Amino acid sequence: MSAKIIDGKEIAAAVKAKAAAGAERCRAAGRAPCLAVIIVGEDPASKVYVRNKKRACEACGITSLEYALPADTAQAALLALIEELNADDDVDGILCQLPLPGQIAEDAVTGAILPEKDVDGFHLVNVGKMLSGKDCFLPCTPAGVIEMLKYEKIPIAGKHAVVVGRSNIVGKPAAALLLKENATVTVCHSRTANLAEITRQADILVAAVGRPGFITADMLSPGCAVIDVGINRLSDGSLAGDVDFAAAKEIAGFITPVPGGVGPMTIAMLMKNTVKSCKLRLGIE
Ligand code: NDP
Repeated sequence: MSAKIIDGKEIAAAVKAKAAAGAERCRAAGRAPCLAVIIVGEDPASKVYVRNKKRACEACGITSLEYALPADTAQAALLALIEELNADDDVDGILCQLPLPGQIAEDAVTGAILPEKDVDGFHLVNVGKMLSGKDCFLPCTPAGVIEMLKYEKIPIAGKHAVVVGRSNIVGKPAAALLLKENATVTVCHSRTANLAEITRQADILVAAVGRPGFITADMLSPGCAVIDVGINRLSDGSLAGDVDFAAAKEIAGFITPVPGGVGPMTIAMLMKNTVKSCKLRLGIE
């Protein structure tokens, strides 16, 4: 039997509709939520992401401010801009599109954004709060993964979730959030021995490796839920996930496609976080 294809666009639309309703309540209470997006340099993929974020803001009734800085911007100049945005009461969320040019340390930038405006959830204060189960801004991609599982009513508690990848922006936080949902979590990485043996035990498999088709059908147990975070550009220009989708969908019970799976969720969760920040700052529900 073929897997149910999880429609990330549909779920993202539902999240954005809720964000839009929240933005409306903010406007009624004084002002629209506002997200400031900074991009440094001309990376084409980053430009696409920034454009998509702007469009999503427009669709949700969120004001978006865009700061496009030249590739040779000094770190001090970027930090000065962040300080300005931190101090601006009308700005609810600040994000700096990664990756940054070599002269700028990413840690310095994520650490400079006020945790209360860190809608990407990358500040160490928010990372610590997430790990301790406190309310905070959750990183958008892993939070999107959980949102998809819940939307599809895929049970998480008591299930074995295997996360392949341990980056700070996807693998580790995805594992932490699955643990918070009471899954039994295994995290795999490039030094994991007998990877396929472990992935075959997964009820929920999250792939965040960055290698097209890395997870093959023989690595899955029948009926499992496969969440493919990977976004890989192939030589013909098309996009592929980390999972061999065509073969995996014949084994899995649920599977996300690429594109149209986790990708749209990331921006939707950013909208949700921005509205949450504005509501907190306006003191409304
Ligand atoms: P990183 O390159 O930072 O991390 C990749 C992880 O995969 C590492 O932990 C690495 O292990 C692990 N890995 C590499 N090779 C193997 C292997 N042979 N066996 C097991 N594990 C391996 O990538 P990101 O986490 O930033 O991104 C992962 C993918 O998700 C990419 O395709 C990226 O484009 C995509 N992505 C998608 C987003 C979305 O919105 N949908 C958002 C962010 C990322 P080790 O730590 O040992 O090196």
